[in-house]
Amino acid sequence: MRQIMVAANWKMNGLSADAVHLTRAILDAGLDPTHPEVVIFPPYTLLHVVAQEAKASALRWGGQNLFWEPSGAFTGEISGAMLRDLGCRYVLVGHSERRQIFAETDADVARKLSAAQAAGLIPIVCVGESEGERLAGETEAVLQRQITHILPYVGTGAQPNLVIAYEPIWAIGTGQTASPEQAQEVHAFIRGLVAGQSEALAKRLMILYGGSVKGNNAASLFAKADIDGGLIGGASLQAGEFLQICRAAE
Ligand code: PGA
Repeated sequence: MRQIMVAANWKMNGLSADAVHLTRAILDAGLDPTHPEVVIFPPYTLLHVVAQEAKASALRWGGQNLFWEPSGAFTGEISGAMLRDLGCRYVLVGHSERRQIFAETDADVARKLSAAQAAGLIPIVCVGESEGERLAGETEAVLQRQITHILPYVGTGAQPNLVIAYEPIWAIGTGQTASPEQAQEVHAFIRGLVAGQSEALAKRLMILYGGSVKGNNAASLFAKADIDGGLIGGASLQAGEFLQICRAAE
């Protein structure tokens, strides 16, 4: 009933030649064009390269961030309209690196969700606890706080207006993946929080897992009932590894 997605978060990596190489490798791999839906999040500077390569295909692309104002005197920022102009369908919002390094708050995340939707983008909003929070038994409290800020943007129609990515901070770029059971438990908790607002939307909501997903652990994660695909960082920069993850979602 739910679509499966595999998303590549290239973070601040890559030059034009890398973007051409990686995008072509995905296009040439003969993946099922719709299952999973494959989405690339290149740095802003490479969006046009990916768009040029992928425009006649089912491959999608999106921005890694946006600012909440539509235009104006905000040197260095990018708006949702600008991302739409480059053919983006999605945008990442509230990645833990944005929250931690750039001090984005839950309120900032909410403003960005609203701006993304107003621009016609589907936000993929990231949530997740730190290692200290998990060890202190605060995982559910942290997620509850983060999800509370997201609930107003889930939507009122038949389909959710956003995607959620659960990315435990202790698993990002560390090689320490959440076990499929740990991840499933949190995904079910998140879906339950959304169900408190709308059972129908909760059932249709895509919840991706992110945090050291690799070719050899993707299948066991994606096999879980509430895990609807992955948001892939490091492993998305290697074509072979990323394609293995895509195939695990087929
Ligand atoms: P990782 O990053 O796969 O390198 O752990 C995931 C992410 O930050 O989206």
